[in-house]
Amino acid sequence: MERQDETQQSKFGRICVFCGSSQGKKTSYQDAAIQLAQELVSRNIDLVYGGGSIGLMGLISQAVHNGGRHVIGVIPKTLMPRELTGVTVGEVKAVAGMHQRKAEMARHSDAFIALPGGYGTLEELLEVITWAQLGIHDKPVGLLNVDGYYNSLLSFIDKAVEEGFISPNARHIIISAPTAKDLVKKLEEYVPCHERVASKLNWETERLAFPQAYNTLR
Ligand code: AMP
Repeated sequence: MERQDETQQSKFGRICVFCGSSQGKKTSYQDAAIQLAQELVSRNIDLVYGGGSIGLMGLISQAVHNGGRHVIGVIPKTLMPRELTGVTVGEVKAVAGMHQRKAEMARHSDAFIALPGGYGTLEELLEVITWAQLGIHDKPVGLLNVDGYYNSLLSFIDKAVEEGFISPNARHIIISAPTAKDLVKKLEEYVPCHERVASKLNWETERLAFPQAYNTLR
């Protein structure tokens, strides 16, 4: 039987969560954002996210903050006006643009999780998967497949494997689960097994090569 400890220690200090800037139509999406926040809090994990208080982004950041964990919102200067994204709880890192934002979010995190979302979420998710495939990082990437929201994406990825565009090893980069508890557990157990085609590339060399892209504005 599973132990019901209030606080469990995780190997992750911070997890980056990508999620909708909308709340989605089903309450299960909103519930999942809150459950993921509770899971992070119960494991003493801090949150990195895209900043602001709109949609699922606002729900998870507020719940993690209320639970007493640190929240870092990484937000491009142009999205900072309150009327665009609302207020970011916790620490705000202002960055120059969308590319720098993703690099900063990734650099500050030990793992990534995507909740349901739209284009922005998909783009962020696929980029960290691509970076893992290239060996730029080996941090686990999780998909919180709430109510089967991502079933069609997972089927498409399986099709790409069948058709020879994604290697079976690279398929294993994506870890999916229907609940936050199951997903975080799987991420904890994850052992990277994909090819490292560009293992010389790492955050440090990238940072040295492109310092402008990594300078936070404050
Ligand atoms: P979407 O899934 O299209 O709603 O986009 C959400 C993702 O893109 C989040 O993880 C954010 O990092 C980023 N994003 C998109 N729109 C905004 C916004 N108005 N304010 C802050 N971040 C946003």
